[in-house]
Amino acid sequence: MTIDEALNDAIANFVARRPKTAALHERAKAVMPGGNTRTVLYSAPFPIRAERAEGSTIWDVDGHSYLDLVGEYSAGIYGHSNPRIHKAVAEALAQGLNLGAHHAREVVFAEAVTKRFDLDLIRFTNSGTEANMMALAAARCFTKRKKIMPMEGGYHGGTLYFSHGASPVNAPFDCVLARFNDIEKTRTLIVQHADDLAAVILEPMLGGGGCLPATPEFLAMLREETAKRGIVLIFDEVMSSRLHPKGLSAQYRIQPDLKTLGKYIGGGMSFGAFGGKRVIMEQFDPSRPDALPHAGTFNNNTLTMTAGHAGLTEIFTAEACVALNERGETLRHAINDLCMGYQAALQATGMGSMITLHPIAGPVVKPEDAERADKRLKRLLYLDLLDQGIYIAERGFMALSLVVGTPDTQRLLGALESFIKRYRHLLVASA
Ligand SMILES: *Cc1c(COP(=O)(O)O)cnc(C)c1O
Repeated sequence: MTIDEALNDAIANFVARRPKTAALHERAKAVMPGGNTRTVLYSAPFPIRAERAEGSTIWDVDGHSYLDLVGEYSAGIYGHSNPRIHKAVAEALAQGLNLGAHHAREVVFAEAVTKRFDLDLIRFTNSGTEANMMALAAARCFTKRKKIMPMEGGYHGGTLYFSHGASPVNAPFDCVLARFNDIEKTRTLIVQHADDLAAVILEPMLGGGGCLPATPEFLAMLREETAKRGIVLIFDEVMSSRLHPKGLSAQYRIQPDLKTLGKYIGGGMSFGAFGGKRVIMEQFDPSRPDALPHAGTFNNNTLTMTAGHAGLTEIFTAEACVALNERGETLRHAINDLCMGYQAALQATGMGSMITLHPIAGPVVKPEDAERADKRLKRLLYLDLLDQGIYIAERGFMALSLVVGTPDTQRLLGALESFIKRYRHLLVASA
């Protein structure tokens, strides 16, 4: 059987078992382009359509249940029905929605987040995208320079996406694209553009770009070169802050000038934040005559402030963070041992609780390595796991939530073994 034949069979099986999903997709297409309002969730011929979720289980509208390993692309760290989060939301509701005023909860939450992630000052937004837009603007105003340096393969939000160059819907920043984990090429670019560069921005582990950790040497070079030249170093920790109790930068022992946060820190509500060095953040102090404005109707919404605080201080404690990431490390090693055992061209990259599966043999360290994957094999794996009752992202991404236990990870290993056995002849190193 060829890859195309296997994929056609898997798609036919997927479609046949989901009549209600197919019907809703038709209705959706009439009112949303392609039936979709969040690109990453789409998968051809149509995506699964969830009905409800509880703990680590998600049900689709056709009644299939799945072990949820997507974990809302890392935002769903608390699982689907944490009672403490529900209680926090209820508390916030009782005080009234959207107060349109400063309130106490935002202070308590800001204290918790700044302490946890070593930030002098913080401001809240509604999404990680906005947090990065504002952090870049802060850096440009602070340095009075125009250019920014993201990494090829980096993702900082819908308007800050850099895969095969800048996305056509990106905000029109003047960008110098650097190469992730390529010390010499990137150093040369920084030196070349130093006088115009306001900021270097990157994820200390590429998340959407394939769960590829930065090398310590690469981050050390960036810290040294930016500090020397007055360039603001921004770490986008929207995903990676969950990989260490104080964020991934603490694990690398590198302090950027600004950090951006998002996803799980809002306790499952929409959330973003940017913060860091006092001199940069103070530009937004509205009591100053020259203050930079920073708007956002829902920036201090009570649901996010309350659920986020409960999650960070009572559930995702430092101990819980360490334990979850240890579980992820064990799983990633077990996956790689399994694939090696069968000599299958399949491997897992990542750190701690975030993992991406790549149907590739040989090292996967830079974005261009991950690009070598045959997208048809990724789809086949995605569809095969769905059929076995396990939901991962089609790109191979998984984020373990706190309610994914050892029986669940054992189940994934079993399902991967079935996949490898069935399609072993397709998982061969390409010449
Ligand atoms: C998800 C993500 C963002 C964007 O956050 P949104 O809340 O979806 O706008 C930014 N950076 C990284 C690294 C992300 O993973």
